[in-house]
Amino acid sequence: MSKAIVVIGAGICGAACALWLRRSGHDVLLLDKSEPGMGASYGNAGLLAQWAIVPMNEPGIWKNLPRYLLDPMSPLFVKWRYLPQLAPWLVEFLKNARSTTSNRTSEALVPLLSDAVEQHKSLTEGTKSQTWIADSKFSYAYRHRESFDADAFGWAIKADAGMIPEVLTGPQVQEEEPICGPMIQCLAVLSGQGHILNPLGYVRSLVDAFKEMGGRYLQADVLDFERDGKKVRAVITDKGRIECDKAVVTAGIWSKPLMAKLGLKVPLETERGYHVMYKAPSEMPRNPMMMTIGKFGITPMSEGLRCAGTVELGGIKLGPSKAPIRLIRRRVAEVFPNLTYQRSEEWMGFRPSTPDSLPLIGEIAQSGIYTAFGHQHVGLTAGAKTGRLISDLIAQSLPNIDMSPYDPNRYAAR
Ligand SMILES: Cc1cc2nc3c(=O)[nH]c(=O)nc-3n(C[C@H](O)[C@H](O)[C@H](O)COP(=O)(O)OP(=O)(O)OC[C@H]3O[C@@H](n4cnc5c(N)ncnc54)[C@H](O)[C@@H]3O)c2cc1C
Repeated sequence: MSKAIVVIGAGICGAACALWLRRSGHDVLLLDKSEPGMGASYGNAGLLAQWAIVPMNEPGIWKNLPRYLLDPMSPLFVKWRYLPQLAPWLVEFLKNARSTTSNRTSEALVPLLSDAVEQHKSLTEGTKSQTWIADSKFSYAYRHRESFDADAFGWAIKADAGMIPEVLTGPQVQEEEPICGPMIQCLAVLSGQGHILNPLGYVRSLVDAFKEMGGRYLQADVLDFERDGKKVRAVITDKGRIECDKAVVTAGIWSKPLMAKLGLKVPLETERGYHVMYKAPSEMPRNPMMMTIGKFGITPMSEGLRCAGTVELGGIKLGPSKAPIRLIRRRVAEVFPNLTYQRSEEWMGFRPSTPDSLPLIGEIAQSGIYTAFGHQHVGLTAGAKTGRLISDLIAQSLPNIDMSPYDPNRYAAR
């Protein structure tokens, strides 16, 4: 039966939920306090990262942490004055860096990520959004074969999930990717991958497709929920009260205060990330890459060459730092020594991250309020499938994957 559904937040997760729900015949209103796609979904690396099944808090993090924190060229940054607020999340995050927990997390990430390219293609079927999806290979770029070998833990997990790379060394590297200078002596290449040519353009075109199908969009800031006992009756916005049968929270990092309104203490923190967009570059890589010596993605996009990644722990209120941008620029100059460009743009965004590295996808108790946020480094990748899962849950047709790892009620008793 058709329901009145409000989707809160028009990033990739909100746009995908809105589109799938509208396709299922519901009366859907998509809300955003700003323009669609201006949150984390604006500036990501555009990678459909089917391979990103090893969580950031992998067991090796303990060994690497002191070096990460002391070395200015490491990809992890901390705003130290934010540490007191960050501490509870950080403790939980590090507790999850045990091999048993880490393996469980990887197992739970596989069904969300492994068919992402296909999921994005079915999300966009029959719409103009399809033109933003590119089929590609994906390479991890290493200084030496030994650095690839040192990554054995992650590659073993990927191999278990069926991802075995072709390893290229020496002159084969430049044959595969002529943009690489001599600093890169090893590429681990995965085929059958994909990327998005313009993440903002993609989200906006999804919202356009949703509107063309009869969905409605309104710029409004959601402040609270109105409930009849347990069940949602309306959302309260700065533009007034909007009645609904169901609400879906897809507000990225800003979902945390909305959860607090419902009495859920979700330990959501941001892993801030940065990009440098090189406009009119003299050369582009043939396919996207992960630059392992700075932990950032390198993606050929419609508007230039985007280099995006790094992690900075520092909350959402403090302004951007210079060091992560310096790191990206320096590494890019080293690995692509012949690259020139007309101008460049810089950006910082907020990945929404839980300490167990798993998103919240499901219904809060039997409230009619659903969550679809907390996708940390892989929200673009998992966004399309998340939208389909939410649509299935609302239709009460049981998804064919185990949803328990993403259950939002895991935070209910806190
Ligand atoms: C540098 C960087 C690189 C990345 N690279 C990749 C990558 O290559 N591949 C990948 O899969 N992921 C990547 N990510 C992660 C990915 O970008 C995020 O996981 C994803 O964009 C989260 O999407 P979202 O829809 O949950 O949130 P967002 O895109 O942040 O959208 C949330 C929306 O909710 C709106 N909103 C918030 N509060 C309210 C409210 N109260 N009322 C109404 N609207 C509200 C906001 O305005 C915003 O538009 C990267 C992230 C960063 C920072």
